[in-house]
Amino acid sequence: MTKAERINNPGKQRPPYWVAESYKGRVVATFFCPQGHRLKLREHDVATDGTVNPRVECNYVHPDTEVACEFNDKVKLEGWSHGESVAVS
Ligand SMILES: [Zn+2]
Repeated sequence: MTKAERINNPGKQRPPYWVAESYKGRVVATFFCPQGHRLKLREHDVATDGTVNPRVECNYVHPDTEVACEFNDKVKLEGWSHGESVAVS
């Protein structure tokens, strides 16, 4: 289980973390894997406690080395507030 902290400004802290974004009138999470790759969780289900289903798999492949990211884990979004309407800037 990977626990991701909720932050407002990506880039200032070490991942994993997540940010809230607005998508089609609801809040969706954008998760940053431990390597800092950005993953939009639009097709995932987030439980009331922040647990994401199914597992999150990072498909990032480095364009130069062609090394694929191996992140594949259950993720919990700390600070997830189910159904909230977040003011997203
Ligand atoms: Zn990754």
